[in-house]
Amino acid sequence: AWAAARVHTYDDHRMAMCTPKAWAAARVHTYDDHRMAMCLSLAAFNPLSSQDHSVTGMPVRIEDPACVAKTFPEYFETLFTLVEAAAGAVPVITVDGPSASGKGTLASRTAQRLGYHFLDSGAIYRAAGVAAQRAGVDLDDGRAVAAVASTMALRFEADRVWLGADDITEAVRSEAGGMLASRVSALPEVRSALRDLQLAFRRPPGLVADGRDMGTVIFPDAPLKIFLTASVDERAQRRLKQLAERGVAATIDNLRADLAARDERDTTRTSAPLKPAQGAMRLDNSRLTVDDSVVQVLEWWAQRQPYRVLPGADA
Ligand code: C5P
Repeated sequence: AWAAARVHTYDDHRMAMCTPKAWAAARVHTYDDHRMAMCLSLAAFNPLSSQDHSVTGMPVRIEDPACVAKTFPEYFETLFTLVEAAAGAVPVITVDGPSASGKGTLASRTAQRLGYHFLDSGAIYRAAGVAAQRAGVDLDDGRAVAAVASTMALRFEADRVWLGADDITEAVRSEAGGMLASRVSALPEVRSALRDLQLAFRRPPGLVADGRDMGTVIFPDAPLKIFLTASVDERAQRRLKQLAERGVAATIDNLRADLAARDERDTTRTSAPLKPAQGAMRLDNSRLTVDDSVVQVLEWWAQRQPYRVLPGADA
């Protein structure tokens, strides 16, 4: 709600100048100043945005929200508990693609750069597989696995995955965890049991979601959808390197065969098969570094924004 106010500028010319005469969508560069971030975040309550709750209203993007850490690290979390974003107004970038294409790294780095939440939907399917196996249910029984999946006490904390009081991080990340996920994720009952859990990750200020059906099924209205691919050889090499770093022995031939088998199962299943979503941007990262791919995604994202960069701000 708008109220008359006297603004103390702390002798700061930027504070004085940011009283706009007309509203325009904007990206705000904060110059690493917590006061700029907090003060200008309130511009999101501008009269135009309150009339039109869609992303086509007059949104405000604070470029480096983490600069509030100096005085009020939980500022944005606190702000978002006071207001509720209209359904569909929270921006989502989906990153789908085959196993070991680098989706997880690309999606989490992009989320970090934008200050958005990150959804690793593969980890949810892996956890469901682990939970079902631990519960001793028949892994081909869709209803039984779905019952476990919809009631599992799953928590993601920093880089750990918890099932109730058990740390299941290693089981979830293992190759066996991937195989379990690939098996239970083919069951339609399991996919629908896990839908709401995935939708709940769509929280302000935004989400980058990685998986197989993020753009096709879970967030079909996402303003930017990426379909990430790399050759089987390249993906097998990357997986070999990852496993070597974790001290796990594997051969390139076995990994190539595993990936091909998983691709086959993911693309031919009847429930949410892996395929590019409508309007998805295809990105083959066989010859790109992670940084190159992040830059490309951020460029596509910037092209979709209505923001004008404020004078003097970095592009
Ligand atoms: O991405 P990640 O390798 O962790 O996924 C493990 C398996 O979970 C995939 O091989 C796929 O079968 C399944 N999955 C899925 N839908 C998603 C994410 C993962 O079917 N959105």
